[in-house]
Amino acid sequence: MKAVEEGRGALSEWLAAQPKNFYDADSLLRILVERAGLGDRIGALEAFGAVAAGPLDAAAIENNRPGNLPVLDSHDGIGRYVARIMHHPSYHRAGKLIYGSGVMAAYAEIPNPHPFILSLFYLSAHVGEGGHNCPLACTAGAIRALQTLGTDEQKAAWLPRLLTPVYGDHYAGAQFLTEVQGGSDVGANAVVAERQTDGSWHIAGEKWFCSSADADVFVVTARPEGAAGGTKGLGLFLVPREVGGEPNGFVLRRLKDKLGTRSMVTAEIDFEGARAEQLGSLEHGFRNTMELIIDTSRLYNAFGCAAMAHRAYLVARGYAEHRRAFGETIGRFPLVKETLSMIRADAEAALAGSFWLAQIQQRVDGGEASDDEAAFLRMGLNLNKVRTASLSHDAVNRGIEILGGNGTIETFSVLPRLLRDNVVFENWEGTHHTLRMQVLNDALRLGLHEGFFAMLEKRLGSERLRSDRQAFDLCLKEQDTLLLRRVCDHLGSWIHLAALEDIDEPGIRARAELTTLRHLSEDPSRDGYGDLIERCAS
Ligand SMILES: Cc1cc2nc3c(=O)[nH]c(=O)nc-3n(C[C@H](O)[C@H](O)[C@H](O)COP(=O)(O)OP(=O)(O)OC[C@H]3O[C@@H](n4cnc5c(N)ncnc54)[C@H](O)[C@@H]3O)c2cc1C
Repeated sequence: MKAVEEGRGALSEWLAAQPKNFYDADSLLRILVERAGLGDRIGALEAFGAVAAGPLDAAAIENNRPGNLPVLDSHDGIGRYVARIMHHPSYHRAGKLIYGSGVMAAYAEIPNPHPFILSLFYLSAHVGEGGHNCPLACTAGAIRALQTLGTDEQKAAWLPRLLTPVYGDHYAGAQFLTEVQGGSDVGANAVVAERQTDGSWHIAGEKWFCSSADADVFVVTARPEGAAGGTKGLGLFLVPREVGGEPNGFVLRRLKDKLGTRSMVTAEIDFEGARAEQLGSLEHGFRNTMELIIDTSRLYNAFGCAAMAHRAYLVARGYAEHRRAFGETIGRFPLVKETLSMIRADAEAALAGSFWLAQIQQRVDGGEASDDEAAFLRMGLNLNKVRTASLSHDAVNRGIEILGGNGTIETFSVLPRLLRDNVVFENWEGTHHTLRMQVLNDALRLGLHEGFFAMLEKRLGSERLRSDRQAFDLCLKEQDTLLLRRVCDHLGSWIHLAALEDIDEPGIRARAELTTLRHLSEDPSRDGYGDLIERCAS
């Protein structure tokens, strides 16, 4: 009995030792925030770090219990279609805490203070998607699109409530591009926009993946009747959820039963003449969607992945400090030490790269960025999204491994849920391959790689990048897309290493070295690789 008590006692010590503040527990975030000159915002980050590690985490755990997930309440008592989503009270508790941090309200500042906003978001995403973190990304995209493209009337109608920190009074946004026949291939969109005699539009057709489906305003891609095919002919439209207090010409067909991000609603929606307003010029609909909405979400996605990786480190490190096997705490075993170092190194790489991009985004928005920075941002957002999602998946998986069998149990720690959320993060906002292909196409069409490499070389010197630059040039010349995964993974790692380059803290330096060893060892241009893949498929 004594042995059992000791075993359970160690687990209970582990639970008690969980960090009480995700900001205080993150040495790299603290360094980055200070170096970015955000000293006057530290109080807000510290305060929210405690909220995220305490009541927010508890609310997300409660909300994700199987009986507490959102449900579609399609009709009211007398049979009218209302398209209502019913949430558990813990969902609203979480929302109040997150919006109350001022994370969306900070977009009132122009240029938007991305490093601060995304640091708040990062703290929030330590609890996983948590029901609200995807909607935050969508709301941020809607705000940025309205700030840049909206008419005075549109801004007045939507921005005040998109920006309020008061949950309940707030509006949330959503972004619907994907259709059943085309996710990566957005140019295959078939939803149409029909112009009305009063100048407004009606949207008709089916959207297949609609997250934040209970949002107040949807930003939707649709093809005006008669417009060109492909992405060229896509327009961007604002669709209010309600007109005259009733659902605005859409039917929520059903909610998706998802592997992860389960406390956030994703629906299939049929639009049947929904009233809409054009947002920005029609001919730049797709470009605006990418630059203001999708690029925003991709950076959120990366910060979310960095956060899940860091949470995995916190959970696993604590466990390793308390769990005993063979008469030792497991953290003393070299293999466990190695695993923890790898998780932490990956989490730090993901955060540093994402934070750097957020700083550049703010400079681009403020008109202060050089052409090289703008090119770096555009290519970097895609490379970083892929890399952070892969690192985070690996980190959470390794965290589970440190917890052994307990790691696989949903009620034991948050890690199983984070792993499931992570799989979704790897797919939405563009799959790995789609983003790699976009990197190639942006280099081919716009020559963005020149500015991208110039920025990396400034921090790392050209010698270290030489072989990957050659491999990338080969991809371009031969349009060899089989090389692309390996080259893009390396380029993603170089972004992370460049972001960590001048941080002079010995532990962080050592972990950056470990990252170099692990992630840059595969030779992308190894001879005969293409043949090998062909033979594998035979
Ligand atoms: C939970 C969840 C919520 C979502 N919410 C939203 C939302 O709110 N709004 C929205 O618009 N979308 C949303 N999505 C959709 C998401 O963005 C798409 O699933 C994603 O873009 C991929 O599209 P697809 O599923 O059609 O995959 P496909 O396009 O069918 O891709 C299938 C596979 O083919 C690969 N592939 C495709 N093209 C190429 C190529 N050229 N070269 C090599 N490989 C290629 C892909 O990488 C992938 O591995 C959501 C998805 C999920 C899972």
